[in-house]
Amino acid sequence: MKFRDVRMRGFEKRARLSAVLDWLDAHCASLPGESIPLAESAGRILAEEIVATSNIPAYRRSAMDGYAIAGEETTGASDYSPLTFRVVGESWPGSPFSGKLYSTQAVRIMTGAPVPEGADAVLPAEQASEAGDLVEFTGSVPPGKNVGAIGEDVREGTSVLPAGRRLRPQDVGLLASLGLAVVPVIRRPKVRMLITGNELAAVGQPIGESQIFDSNSPMLHSLIVRDSGELIEQLHLRDDRHLISEALQRPGADVLLVSGGSSVGAEDYAPSLLDELGELDFHGMAIRPASPTGVGRLGSAIVFLLPGNPVSCLCAYDLLAGRTIRQLGGRSPRLPYATREFVLSKKIVSSVGRLDYCRVCIDEERVFPVATSGASILSSTSRADGFVLVPEESEGYAVGTTVSVHLYDLPFDRPL
Ligand code: AMP
Ligand code: MG
Repeated sequence: MKFRDVRMRGFEKRARLSAVLDWLDAHCASLPGESIPLAESAGRILAEEIVATSNIPAYRRSAMDGYAIAGEETTGASDYSPLTFRVVGESWPGSPFSGKLYSTQAVRIMTGAPVPEGADAVLPAEQASEAGDLVEFTGSVPPGKNVGAIGEDVREGTSVLPAGRRLRPQDVGLLASLGLAVVPVIRRPKVRMLITGNELAAVGQPIGESQIFDSNSPMLHSLIVRDSGELIEQLHLRDDRHLISEALQRPGADVLLVSGGSSVGAEDYAPSLLDELGELDFHGMAIRPASPTGVGRLGSAIVFLLPGNPVSCLCAYDLLAGRTIRQLGGRSPRLPYATREFVLSKKIVSSVGRLDYCRVCIDEERVFPVATSGASILSSTSRADGFVLVPEESEGYAVGTTVSVHLYDLPFDRPL
């Protein structure tokens, strides 16, 4: 056993967040790629650069409903001196005019249809009036006007999207326009949750006296979804060493999240089990309120022992586990929150030597810490608009200090 058994003794020392993040960075490269159907690719991370294998459009296409003509033939046409052309055919999207145009000939053409040989411009229908097989033009267009050139959207051989791109809906459309039916994306990390605690009941189940509903698993599940992880299994376990040991050893996960029993209580089995079965690389962190957090490895999985207290659980997930899930899945390790600067209207108190995850409320352009903010007060995180991270070397911030707030909601989702 590398770690001293800390049960009922307390942590000897606590790891700095930066040390844990350095370790995590060294132990999680992004996962390999897989091919998935195009229709399922929005939000996924491209595993490879996409290079165009064709031109879009592949033919000169009309940008207007009107008449395909040789542009220079229309020079001088106006309301006062219209020019007359002969209509020799039609070009529709998907059903082009197959012949060639000669001078003063025109082809009726629709938007998106191929521009026939001999034509180099399209005169809009508004400047034309047809009678029989003749058409009179009351305006002129220079060569090239209203014609989309071959490759004007995407040129064959050019890079369309880089590896690592998180696919937007319009990217999916772009890949479809290149004819891609399957897309190479980075595999999503498989996550298993072990929710421990004798006192827990699942929502929808009857609750006994001195029991509480398990709020961590639905919260963690939502966070895993946000970070593009795939929850493969969720186990609810009593604080039983044997059960937790078995569950820890189940194969197939890239990330294991254990909720509860991560601290120094007599029933906190997960840390010593991880130490025995795999490696417990960190236990005890200089983070408030997530100090009883553990990080290690078991087989090929990275394991996070998250405190049961819901605020601590959220904080430990966000600062550590979420980062790893995003990183394994090829996403940016950065916190997925927009940040904005605000001036403090009440001081934030912290201690040198630990990082504080301080929940704050925003009032106009000012910000202040939430009043009741213990690790077990989950409602503090719902009342808060975001959080401020107070670094290890700081004792806190005085009134009037400008602080950077991580916003739980995107700025346009809330009336700031
Ligand atoms: P533990 O980390 O197991 O020592 O739990 C610390 C506190 O968090 C205790 O008050 C537990 O009842 C509570 N707790 C543990 N797990 C959960 C959970 N899944 N949902 C809500 N509260 C929990
Ligand atoms: Mg417990």
